[in-house]
Amino acid sequence: MSRRRIFLDQDGPLANFDGYMKKHNLKGDQIKVMEGAYLNLEPTVGAIEGVKSLNGMGKFDLWIATKPPVGIPFACADKVSWILKHFPDLKRKIIITHDKGLLGDYRDFLVDDRPHKANCESFAGTLIPFKDGMDWPQLIDYFRKAPREISIRKATYKILQSVGSVQRQWLETVYDGGEERLARLEYDRLVAENPDKYFELVVKEHREECLAFTPKKP
Ligand SMILES: [Mg+2]
Repeated sequence: MSRRRIFLDQDGPLANFDGYMKKHNLKGDQIKVMEGAYLNLEPTVGAIEGVKSLNGMGKFDLWIATKPPVGIPFACADKVSWILKHFPDLKRKIIITHDKGLLGDYRDFLVDDRPHKANCESFAGTLIPFKDGMDWPQLIDYFRKAPREISIRKATYKILQSVGSVQRQWLETVYDGGEERLARLEYDRLVAENPDKYFELVVKEHREECLAFTPKKP
């Protein structure tokens, strides 16, 4: 089975766009039309080491997914040049798109500091906002805990329902077995029909791995 993909937004997670704005007292829209400006962005703190760490885990396939300024061809070239300079290992993993919702599938991840833009909300996998204090050490910690892809043939899928607490030992099984596609359909149905309840879709092999969960109530 293929490795799970991580799509990394360029400006924000990898390149310190906001830092450049502040340092030069420029607006984002000004930078986007300045030839060569993208080349001068500093890498985001921890990004170079972070990308090495993610690659080193051996369970992810890393891609860069960047939305280019509209109608500015040199901005695309500058962004690619910046990647070749700072992340040469990803030179064959560059996607320039206005619609990040087209990328990946439910097993994949998208890390983006503007999750409300570029149709990120339609991304089929897990959208990880790189904002509100999220930084590279936290991101690495998150992916270290993310489940490795496992063989579907070996798996048993369960949907667990909270009965008063989100602690795993307090959950009861409401679905057991089948294939992942059916488990996901069943999970989606339960979540839609019970918006006030907490469910987890887990896959059992040697140990339980969480595939999806309804957000915890604040
Ligand atoms: Mg961004």
